Amino acid sequence: MERVDVAIVGGGPAGMAAAHAAASDGAEALVLEKGVPRADRETLGPDSTDAAGILDYWVEIMDIHPEEFPDDVLVQHLDRAEFIGPTESCTLTSTGIDADYEHFGYTFNRARFDDWLRERAEAAGATYRVGVRVRGVDSDPAATGGDEPRHTIHTADGDDIGADFLVLADGPQRTVTNAVLDDYLPDETAASKRLAAPTANHIAYQEYRRFPEEVFAELNTAIKFWWGHMPGHTAYPWVFPNDNRVCRVGLTMPIGLDLDAVDDRGDYPLIHPDDESIPDGATYIRRLLERVWGDEYDIETDFPLVEDRGKRDGTETYSISSTRPIESPVDAGIAVAGGAMGTTSAFHEGGDHVAVRAGAIAGELAAGGDLSAYNDRWKDAIGDELLRNVTFADLCREYDPDDWDRTFATVREMLTARGPTLFTPSALKSGFAGAKVYYSYKKRKRQFKRNGYVQLTADEYVY
Ligand SMILES: Cc1cc2nc3c(=O)[nH]c(=O)nc-3n(C[C@H](O)[C@H](O)[C@H](O)COP(=O)(O)OP(=O)(O)OC[C@H]3O[C@@H](n4cnc5c(N)ncnc54)[C@H](O)[C@@H]3O)c2cc1C
Repeated sequence: MERVDVAIVGGGPAGMAAAHAAASDGAEALVLEKGVPRADRETLGPDSTDAAGILDYWVEIMDIHPEEFPDDVLVQHLDRAEFIGPTESCTLTSTGIDADYEHFGYTFNRARFDDWLRERAEAAGATYRVGVRVRGVDSDPAATGGDEPRHTIHTADGDDIGADFLVLADGPQRTVTNAVLDDYLPDETAASKRLAAPTANHIAYQEYRRFPEEVFAELNTAIKFWWGHMPGHTAYPWVFPNDNRVCRVGLTMPIGLDLDAVDDRGDYPLIHPDDESIPDGATYIRRLLERVWGDEYDIETDFPLVEDRGKRDGTETYSISSTRPIESPVDAGIAVAGGAMGTTSAFHEGGDHVAVRAGAIAGELAAGGDLSAYNDRWKDAIGDELLRNVTFADLCREYDPDDWDRTFATVREMLTARGPTLFTPSALKSGFAGAKVYYSYKKRKRQFKRNGYVQLTADEYVY
């Protein structure tokens, strides 16, 4: 049987960062990636979610400066984020969080980013195998190493690979992660129940559209989010600028939402009176484009689909984790990282920075022969960010369109009064409404800090 020190399931940002870190520290690291075809990649590669933006302070969290990228990765520097409610809006030109990076953020080509992460890991000595789907893992916690690997990874092709450490970076579907974690959890708290895709994930859909020159000129340094336009928790469409007048127009929404259960459905601008169920992604996107630019343009001819980008025919569909993070069964020599671990934010969808950082910590510790510090180390590195994301997602859980309008109006007033920075006490406390926003955020965050913001803790695992 083939033997490695560290086996990594999934070749996305978390997996490749783990492989890079493990190989850099001298471990034999092997990445197994099932491989996903894309119209804009010649060979199979990881499932690159190409809706990629990074904010200024995320650069330090990721611990990779964009200057390290080859030329084809970074697409656009950003100078603002626009948040648009049904009738109110606000624009942030600063995240207000300390950052050395000089721009508000940047957008990047995720497929090229993933390709570069792979090259970087391979240059450090890691082995990357694409087109290999992991079917399952058998673990023997008592194994001593050497001829007795702690983990035996079974591939769909019938091969077995032995490894001392296992990094699970198979993304939000967790097809391997859930089954592995179930070995360490009682039936009633099984990961396959708690982290099942329909409840633990949202669905995301996006289209590549070429925008008219004057529209693109206005938004090519901005990311735009429309909140309170479609029902569901953290359900919203967005526009991210790409290059050459192309933008990614996408959305995220819960799986299986029942339109009949939505109160005041008429308040959501992207729901029509004759809708019998929640519209599909393409219908929502079409309605958004019509609502924002339809008065001046013919959407089908002036905003055409760009069919040679994305996964297929200019469109992409993904699942995205919307759970809180989980701790790993480190005593079994297993680290879960990135989307599989629930690091992606349901609130703003950012996740590449925390996936890379968590993966790098897992790889470094595995190479050192001891994963026991993993849960503490990722909390030190990315805990503040995850806590912030969990708090925001929870805060807006019951928001309806009016709540979004009220919030954006409040934020706009605060920004006018105090300048472009939002998340500082002085900005948030200006005026009664601002104080309310600030204190409910602080209170919720304190509660999560006290009671915990992870949804599966290390002490639940049974070895
Ligand atoms: C629509 C959308 C928009 C987003 N926008 C942003 C953004 O603007 N900024 C940002 O930072 N983040 C964004 N994210 C989040 C970001 O994509 C994730 O946080 C990131 O991809 C997580 O990386 P990962 O390596 O953990 O998982 P993934 O990127 O999901 O990689 C997992 C890999 O595992 C492979 N795999 C799965 N099962 C198996 C198996 N059985 N065997 C072998 N391989 C397997 C998959 O093919 C995949 O390549 C967005 C996500 C979505 C869906």
